[in-house]
Amino acid sequence: MAFQCPVNSPFDCLLLDLDDTLYPGGTGIGPALKRNIDEFLMARFGLAADRAAALRVELFRTHGSTLAGLIALGHDVHPDEYHSYVHGRLPYDMIAADPRLAALLQSIPQRKILFTNSDRAHMKRALERLGIDEACFDDVVCFETMNPHLFGDASNATDRTVVVLKPSVHAIVAGMRAAGTNPRRTLFLDDSERNIAAGKALGLRTALVGKRVRSKEADYALESIGSLRRAIPEIWGGVAVVDDELQPDHNVEKNKSMRADLDAVIQPTSIQLTDRETVRHDSDQLCVVKQSKSIKCRTSHVSRVLHVSS
Ligand SMILES: [Mg+2]
Repeated sequence: MAFQCPVNSPFDCLLLDLDDTLYPGGTGIGPALKRNIDEFLMARFGLAADRAAALRVELFRTHGSTLAGLIALGHDVHPDEYHSYVHGRLPYDMIAADPRLAALLQSIPQRKILFTNSDRAHMKRALERLGIDEACFDDVVCFETMNPHLFGDASNATDRTVVVLKPSVHAIVAGMRAAGTNPRRTLFLDDSERNIAAGKALGLRTALVGKRVRSKEADYALESIGSLRRAIPEIWGGVAVVDDELQPDHNVEKNKSMRADLDAVIQPTSIQLTDRETVRHDSDQLCVVKQSKSIKCRTSHVSRVLHVSS
């Protein structure tokens, strides 16, 4: 039976990103992660620092992550090797305990899914630093659950050169499956504009976290997860307050500086997911066009049929 929220709310489930969503983007974890990736590329492939940084940016742009790009290009890099290097050495003490967040999450009456591209070890360490019990989430969708084919699961037919991560269609569908709710009654919170764009393209309600101004595909914007109750009172059955300052068409010039921290490689659009996947709306159907594969998939949690065709 589909889950229904016990309060008068338009949402039955929340999909919550972890990094830079449940904790602020300014902790220093992000820059440290980039440094670790560069050092991994330098140590593993003998690259100079500038070449490693350029490759990191290029692989993120073309494949969604450095690891995804390396695997797609045929390099024998196991996810555990990569994650233990780039995540295992992060300065986790930069993430402060957040008892208010713990209370906030406990107060949310809906089903809650933690939906992160990160590996499980990183997720656990970040949650531990925040003081959040993993059990407060009804389910977790993380790197390992989206990519069982990379960990020896022979029953999974996914191409072993493909790494499933947000914002790919398959990752968003994995989140929807875990939610088990109508996408239009499922609220997806993430700090990445392109993840938000992908969620919106597949019918989710969307909230861009860490920004005062909504992106085109975001239904809501909130400066931090701590302002969730004020920004989206509908979660608790409250009435939304329209704040003109938060509308996307107002004060564009004034707010440009606020958006300067957006990743330079992000090119949000309602249809472009990665360089290899494009969503196209054909009448009442949602078509996912890939360059080289012909797959048709259907999920009961997506109200439209997803066609993947060459
Ligand atoms: Mg994030």
